[in-house]
Amino acid sequence: MISDILNTGKTIFSLEVFPPKKTDDIDLVYHAIDEMKTVNPDFISVTYGAGGSNSKETLAISSYIHNNCGIEALSHLTCPALTPEHLLDYTSKMKEYGLTNILALRGDKPRDMSDDNFNNRHFKYASDLVAAIKDDFFVAGACYPEKHPDSATIYDDIENLKKKIDAGVQMLNSQLFFDNQKFYRFLDLCDKAGIDTPILAGIMPITTLRQVVTMVDMSNASIPADLVLLIDKYRDNPADLRKAGIEFAIKQKLDLLKHGVRGIHLYAMNKPDIAKEFFAAH
Ligand code: FAD
Repeated sequence: MISDILNTGKTIFSLEVFPPKKTDDIDLVYHAIDEMKTVNPDFISVTYGAGGSNSKETLAISSYIHNNCGIEALSHLTCPALTPEHLLDYTSKMKEYGLTNILALRGDKPRDMSDDNFNNRHFKYASDLVAAIKDDFFVAGACYPEKHPDSATIYDDIENLKKKIDAGVQMLNSQLFFDNQKFYRFLDLCDKAGIDTPILAGIMPITTLRQVVTMVDMSNASIPADLVLLIDKYRDNPADLRKAGIEFAIKQKLDLLKHGVRGIHLYAMNKPDIAKEFFAAH
């Protein structure tokens, strides 16, 4: 269980992978994991489609990480299409595979789901899902250094975060961010709000121009001036942009470690080369 690793007090280093896109082969993901395990992550998390369409793959990849690689797997699980019956079935399968860790998420409305179905979902917030599984699993949750877009203010968001912790969350994985100062301010606000749950810093290196748009759109993360300059400088040179993006992420990592963060979670995008470069640098 991830709780055993947290209890050692060591700084946590973890990775996130995602199931294959429809036309891709799951073996490609297994191959990427085989390569990534050389960086000795404390755990690897596996994403879950908002509508649960790839739940079988999330389960299979989590099992591969746990049973074939001997690494803790953190299986993401989202609410929009989740009924209590489905949850029971899914968690039974997890137990059969020996999986013990879940990242409980509300999830966003899947494109093919009606507003009515989304609004009438059984588990309204991540905290409702947390309460339903916390007796049987180690449960992690998400947090947002620059607030969740649905929250009016960061203070409201942190109040709601406390509800998730009260429901049973034992670790928080942060949304990706590019400005460490924003993360430090968030840690400070959590501390003032009485939150002492371990918070892992989410880092995603920018390696392509296309990614800049998708990542900012997906995460709401602000881009600090030095990163804007860098993207501008290398926008016509993909190889240099990739190098500079990884260097920027490494600088973020080193600064976070200097500030004594509890752990670093790399959004590794199924790319072993990025994971190796990121974790090798001191
Ligand atoms: P919640 O914690 O439920 O919060 C959602 C909003 O509701 C926030 O504004 C919060 O302040 C508010 N809120 C919470 N509780 C209450 C309450 N009791 N009363 C009123 N307001 C409340 N998506 C996927 O589809 N698959 C994934 O695998 C996935 N992995 C992710 C991993 C990480 C680390 C992160 C940061 C996000 C991930 N997401 C994933 C995206 C996530 O599903 C979305 O960000 C989603 O919009 C919110 O999920 P949550 O669990 O943070 O929601």
